[in-house]
Amino acid sequence: MKTIAILGSTGSIGTQALDVVRQMPSLFQVEVLTAHTNADLLIQQAKEFQPNVVVIGEESQYEYVKQALWDDDVKVYAGTKALCDVVRMDCVDIVLSAIVGVAGLAPIYRAIEAGKQIALANKETLVVAGELMTKAAYDNRAVIYPVDSEHSAIFQSLAGEFHNPVRRIIITASGGPFRGKTREFLQNVTKEQALKHPNWSMGNKITIDSATLMNKGLEVIEAKWLFSVPLEQIEVVVHPQSIVHSLVEFADGSVKAQLGLPDMRLPIQYALTYPNRLANELPRLNFADHPTLTFEEPDMETFPCLRLAYEASREGGCMPCVLNAANEVAVSLFLRDKIGFYDIPRIIEDAMARATYCTPASVEEYLAIDKETKETIKQSYKD
Ligand code: NDP
Repeated sequence: MKTIAILGSTGSIGTQALDVVRQMPSLFQVEVLTAHTNADLLIQQAKEFQPNVVVIGEESQYEYVKQALWDDDVKVYAGTKALCDVVRMDCVDIVLSAIVGVAGLAPIYRAIEAGKQIALANKETLVVAGELMTKAAYDNRAVIYPVDSEHSAIFQSLAGEFHNPVRRIIITASGGPFRGKTREFLQNVTKEQALKHPNWSMGNKITIDSATLMNKGLEVIEAKWLFSVPLEQIEVVVHPQSIVHSLVEFADGSVKAQLGLPDMRLPIQYALTYPNRLANELPRLNFADHPTLTFEEPDMETFPCLRLAYEASREGGCMPCVLNAANEVAVSLFLRDKIGFYDIPRIIEDAMARATYCTPASVEEYLAIDKETKETIKQSYKD
């Protein structure tokens, strides 16, 4: 039996992870559940899974959660620091990071330091501080298993290929709701349009990232660190059907891929049960239902966020942190109707142009750059 901490259990990935656990009760014991503000769902999950500990990020909700769980044998903590403490508990084998944004950075670093196994959905962790995280994982023998479906596909394609050099990693992108649209069309799109992803149901932030193609840019950076492959060998191809989840080309020209229906429960399960493939009740891929699988080049002119992510990663140092911070604020402004769709890449490009290159050496230094970048943008929007 594996013991799990699920950080961000109330989100899209978190609830799907609990679905996986629910289907395999003899394999997993949930030790930790955490939420930021959604106290009611956290309480409901705690009553069902009876974890050792729950953490509510928003400290003002502590009493409410504590009261609701008073006759359950569940410890209740609150605040950001508590997240960094609970991931280190001896009773936890594997930490699933399903927090959204840079908020996942510090707890995962602490979990890595404690040598825990990590199932990583929170791609922002590797985007912001990939070098620091992967070095700490190496030093502490903490294995990072990808949860992102693309990275899970790459991981699965690399199985048994340890000694074979990779020629290319090809990350597939659905293209999001605006695939094939023109710049003119995109000038005036609304958040409601951007939130209608054709294939995946996800949290709001990643759904907007998918519409701008920033999500793919973040995934390119994530892949670079997860698989130690230079940026020049990581490509993106648009595959609107989201059946081929990503591919790896080897020196001999062979290309391996992993295919499946777009359902995050599969990569979540694989990350939690690796190296085993366990039978489950998930819907199966029927090829006759998908007679056409197509592939096309991404349009980096119409979707500049993908280009910006490559540029930030090429520059290195603090630049991916600046890119991520600016993107988080811009997406939040867009979701509150304070800016338009194309203000997102413009804000990011401005932030990168203003940033002074440096090479942060600790989580605290990365978080300081994140904060400074966000505050500068917020000030100019009086947010
Ligand atoms: P959601 O917005 O659905 O969920 C986010 C979770 O994180 C919630 O539990 C939320 O709590 C919690 N949270 C939010 N802000 C904070 C904070 N400041 N501190 C601590 N916890 C916080 O996001 P998703 O599940 O869609 O995405 C999570 C991560 O997984 C992202 O990094 C995303 O890129 C990645 N991912 C998601 C996929 C998907 O299909 N959804 C696919 C691949 C990767 P509360 O509910 O209380 O607000």
